[in-house]
Amino acid sequence: MSQPSITIPSSLLPADGRFGCGPSKVRPEAVAALAEAAPTFLGTSHRQAGVRSQVGRLRAGVRELFGLPEGWEVVLGNGGSTGFWDAATFGLIEQRSLHLSFGEFSSKFAAASAAAPFLGDPVVVRSEPGTHPELVADESVDLYALTHNETSTGVAMELRRPAGATARQLVAVDATSAAGGLRWDPAEVDCYYFAPQKCFASDGGLFIACCSPAAVQRIERLAASDRWIPASIDLKIALDNSRQDQTNNTPALATVFLAVHQTEWINSNGGLEWAASRCDRSAEIIYGWADKASYATPYVSDPRHRSHVVATIDLDAGIDANEVARVLRANGVVDTESYRKLGRNQLRVALFPAIDPADVEALTACIDHVVDALA
Ligand SMILES: *Cc1c(COP(=O)(O)O)cnc(C)c1O
Repeated sequence: MSQPSITIPSSLLPADGRFGCGPSKVRPEAVAALAEAAPTFLGTSHRQAGVRSQVGRLRAGVRELFGLPEGWEVVLGNGGSTGFWDAATFGLIEQRSLHLSFGEFSSKFAAASAAAPFLGDPVVVRSEPGTHPELVADESVDLYALTHNETSTGVAMELRRPAGATARQLVAVDATSAAGGLRWDPAEVDCYYFAPQKCFASDGGLFIACCSPAAVQRIERLAASDRWIPASIDLKIALDNSRQDQTNNTPALATVFLAVHQTEWINSNGGLEWAASRCDRSAEIIYGWADKASYATPYVSDPRHRSHVVATIDLDAGIDANEVARVLRANGVVDTESYRKLGRNQLRVALFPAIDPADVEALTACIDHVVDALA
């Protein structure tokens, strides 16, 4: 690391300088536990009891964390959330989907569905970046695709079935950056999927999908139909393997282990309500600071849509946000850059459960220091 042009006094620095939105901070305790377990865990067969018991603990821990009702299944597979979009395109959408598109991630599942030759053109409802569209029932679709937290813009939405939705219509939610940090009600959702490199403070590569009985039925019906489904993204194969506490092909064992550690850490501290309250506290700190700072403004203007897991803060034009992020990085405070394609003079800060609200507070003091020094 070269000598930074501006040195932030160590008394201001956070204890942990990782504020990225994914891969995000992995708790040192989880890494230490992995190192301790490594000799009998890493490098062992995923078909044997050692790894299968971790997969089982992950499935049980996720079930407990979200209070999943009887009949729900926790399905695991390789490919992360992006892989799941392809899996869902083949295995969860019957004929036509509707997508709320309000940023980079939500637009991608819509694109996957639009590209599938065996599906009808999706209905795509868009809104300006920094907002989210309203969900209205549409009788021509069999799946509503929502995004709990749009990581590229820092907009979160409340999950609710649209009024007038029929029992035939599924609600599928990309919860990659929300799961484990935001509240939701399984009664409003059929498939809540994510990857563990965000609130689950693990590494990437895996998808975890919580599926209602209606979603499981859809998966089974499409798998039995004459649609061709590539095996590596076949949700029925993933479901059958998950029921055996396995995955179809080899998962990253460290990813599984770290995700178990984080899930059990949250559950033992009080569960989702505890984790969401911790994120609420971090959100209150950073948005409160931005409201007060003369040079900073929360990007999302409607406070109800401001994410409590990913904060986006615009800076005044006279201050170069990229320069601020560069100075922070040179001082060991990393990944506060805004989402590149959004193209704003902005800082983006993860508020995931692993991140200590006291460190978010320290970050605001560091930003104030850097902006002062740059002026
Ligand atoms: C990070 C993210 C993704 C992509 O996850 P991968 O595991 O890298 O495919 C998808 N959706 C949202 C909302 C995300 O935040």
